[in-house]
Amino acid sequence: MATSENWAQDVITCDLCVKPSQQFCNSCQVSLCNVCVHKHREEFQSLSHDVVPFLHRKIQLALPECREHPGHRCEAHCNNCNQPACIKCILSGPHKGHAAEELSKTHESKVQKIIKETQLITTKIIPNYQKKDVEIETTMSEAKLNMITLKKKMLDSSNCGIKKLITSLIGWTLSVNL
Ligand SMILES: [Zn+2]
Ligand SMILES: [Zn+2]
Ligand SMILES: [Zn+2]
Ligand SMILES: [Zn+2]
Repeated sequence: MATSENWAQDVITCDLCVKPSQQFCNSCQVSLCNVCVHKHREEFQSLSHDVVPFLHRKIQLALPECREHPGHRCEAHCNNCNQPACIKCILSGPHKGHAAEELSKTHESKVQKIIKETQLITTKIIPNYQKKDVEIETTMSEAKLNMITLKKKMLDSSNCGIKKLITSLIGWTLSVNL
């Protein structure tokens, strides 16, 4: 049976594939499964990556790599061109003399969304599912009992042909589902 923790991870899938994510790159703010961590590091080799277990992820700005200057992350946003820019771009590159602001302001709403999502996982989904673990166990044994009672009742009242059919059907259901 799935545990609460597995389930929480199932909610958020890897950003590179469809598997549940176990890891998180704080630098790029992407969810990753164990396999894709290596893929992610290789894909952006020139940048540093702070990869941590998913539930320990840090909410911060994902600074994209500068297109003009590989290996440099964009810490600013150029308001003239409406695109991210690195320090080099603003000091001496294509955005020299342009009006720039910290990228953090531009990304405030995204950060808010991630905070909400984390709160949801830790305060609602995990406790809720822990409760469900118990509920599912109870429901399962109740269903099993009902099935046995039903079988008894049927056998008491039905004719031979139907009895056989019901017996095998219920036997099969009990062995497969419960
Ligand atoms: Zn993956
Ligand atoms: Zn990364
Ligand atoms: Zn640049
Ligand atoms: Zn610009």
